[in-house]
Amino acid sequence: MNSPRFDVISIFPEYMQPLSLSLVGKAQEKSLIEINVTDLRDFAEGLHKSVDDTPYGGGAGMVMSPEPWAQAIDSLSDDPEGNYELIVLTPAGKKFDQAMAYELATKEHLIFACGRYEGIDYRVTEHFRSKRNFTVREISIGDYVLNGGEVAALVILEAIIRLIPGVIGNPASLEEESHSLSDESAEQLVEYPSYTKPAMWRELEVPSVLLSGNHGEIARWRMEQSKARTKKLSE
Ligand code: SAM
Repeated sequence: MNSPRFDVISIFPEYMQPLSLSLVGKAQEKSLIEINVTDLRDFAEGLHKSVDDTPYGGGAGMVMSPEPWAQAIDSLSDDPEGNYELIVLTPAGKKFDQAMAYELATKEHLIFACGRYEGIDYRVTEHFRSKRNFTVREISIGDYVLNGGEVAALVILEAIIRLIPGVIGNPASLEEESHSLSDESAEQLVEYPSYTKPAMWRELEVPSVLLSGNHGEIARWRMEQSKARTKKLSE
């Protein structure tokens, strides 16, 4: 199987530069994944390469025109055998979570559409939803409004890519994490607090059980801490 491919379409391709850093950058160097960034303006017509227009029905702001979006997405999905997931970033979408990250980490080709202004003409979502080889998801990263979808794409990409086999050096570190789905039967807990050396720092001691060497006691203490932290979040 080919390595998973991630495309990002934006009018600010430079926003995606952090993807060349750290573990995501290394994953590309090792060809575990492929990431491409496309400038929407390459598909805009006219002297001013405009990608937006006034909203039908009136109201403030501008809406992104459908044609440059359709051409950009078509240019990335020309394999008739390919299966594509189009992710339209919008605060009106389904809220992103770890379960969604696990699911998206299994896909062969994701295309992220980063909106700007008042968002993208809704017919782009409808058009690709009607195509046989496309799944379209509208995703939000939280109940707040950003200026554009680029930061949301970075958040989602990082959460997905670290789950792809080989990206994180020690896969065991994914198992005990907050929101981890490694044990389907377990209730979803956030992680226990972590400590490192020195054992005494600014008059604060590391909990003594962690220095005891008693693995059973340590596991019990960590589970209690995870449960208490998770409960506190819902208060
Ligand atoms: N008028 C839109 C609304 O009220 O739903 C907000 C548009 S926002 C200013 C511009 C773009 O930022 C959106 O098209 C989307 O791509 C992105 N965006 C903003 N907030 C987001 C969020 N919470 N999650 C995902 N994308 C977001």
